Amino acid sequence: MPENAFTNALAQLEKAAKILNLPVSIHDQLKQPQRLLTVSVPVKMDDGLLKVFTAYRSQYNNARGPFKGGIRYHWNVTEDEVKALSFWMTMKCATVGIPLGGGKGGVIVNPKELSKGELERLSRGYIQSIYKYLGPTEDVPAPDVYTTPEIMGWMLDEYEKLVGSHAPGMITGKPLSIGGSSGRGFSTAQGGVYVLEEAMNKLGKKREETTVAIQGFGNAGSFMAKILNDLGYKVVAVSDSRGGIKSETKLDIQALSKFKEETGGVNSFPGTESVSNEDLLGLEVDVLIPAALENQITAANADRIKAKVVAELANGPTTPEADDILFRNGVLLIPDILTNAGGVTVSYFEQVQNAYNYYWSEEEVLTKLKKIMVDSFQAIWERKEKYQIDLRTAAFVLAVDRVASAMKDRGRG
Ligand code: NAD
Repeated sequence: MPENAFTNALAQLEKAAKILNLPVSIHDQLKQPQRLLTVSVPVKMDDGLLKVFTAYRSQYNNARGPFKGGIRYHWNVTEDEVKALSFWMTMKCATVGIPLGGGKGGVIVNPKELSKGELERLSRGYIQSIYKYLGPTEDVPAPDVYTTPEIMGWMLDEYEKLVGSHAPGMITGKPLSIGGSSGRGFSTAQGGVYVLEEAMNKLGKKREETTVAIQGFGNAGSFMAKILNDLGYKVVAVSDSRGGIKSETKLDIQALSKFKEETGGVNSFPGTESVSNEDLLGLEVDVLIPAALENQITAANADRIKAKVVAELANGPTTPEADDILFRNGVLLIPDILTNAGGVTVSYFEQVQNAYNYYWSEEEVLTKLKKIMVDSFQAIWERKEKYQIDLRTAAFVLAVDRVASAMKDRGRG
């Protein structure tokens, strides 16, 4: 049976609920989204014909603040995937202590098959379908897989036309020219680097001695590769949807990014050997960074992982069974709801800047981001030591406790 991301998310909740002795009334509410929107979006295609796309928005929990989470364009989007991602957003915002809830959107589409005009009409159509449920104090989308700052710009424009006023804080990950934040483009990766550095310090491992493999060379993965290499780490393998490459020596990430731009993939980058996405996971490296999609590390391949540290930049790349295997094998897994929380943290900063219409320098953004990521890592590490549990369960213990407190304080408990 294929893995179901939402079933896996509920298993993670279950583990934390047991440790926290979570009241049944709260647990039951956390097993489903507060609101789930399913819409069909008609789009006039370039050939003049109308095509209808199915799209979702899951508003999971808003006890700690407005629903918050990206929009994914992918042919494999399902209702359950969107629900899982919105659950993880709820937990992510709570893990890093920012005053936001969790949501997520998804459109079933292969964006690579659409012209730019079709993509714009689809993006505007999606906003027309759900705009009544969005807004800076209601629900705030952002980019995710195969959505970009440009798409956020179209969505903001459509929303503002419909409501008749400026509302830049209704969406984040916007271009800088219309209220984006400095640093947002690479913030997911940068946040991941801050927590990875904390973990490597705990293990006493030096940057120059640390080899890294990254699955997924998109927004999150390619920036992570660049920042790590600049710091002195050795990124020796990367992959994308077309396959991967590995090298005996540190990859030239700048040249590789240019190569991918020109050829559409990382495959056949000069001076490297090919490696499949599956084999990349089992490479003899110190750090493995899944930065693509869900359910990549499963019970079927977890035993083959040789890395000492897995830093989950993607959402939900490891199944609960695989978690147990990695823990037994002594692999330190830094969970997604911490590792990739830098993106939503800078999204939160973006909203704050939009609200007072005054913008910070990149340095200011990164200083604030670093403090939140490092403090959150330490808070989770303390729980791991206290309860002798893995870092994911420790993060969920912290997050579920925070969400539950907010629910109780609202009388929703
Ligand atoms: P993206 O669209 O920029 O990149 C996705 C990358 O994954 C592409 O390089 C694609 O080729 C590759 N890919 C797709 N299928 C693959 C497969 N089967 N095997 C290997 N590679 C594959 O998306 P992104 O924004 O970088 O998101 C990647 C992950 O990070 C997702 O799980 C997303 O939810 C998570 N994430 C992103 C952000 C953000 O701010 N962008 C924030 C938090 C979490």
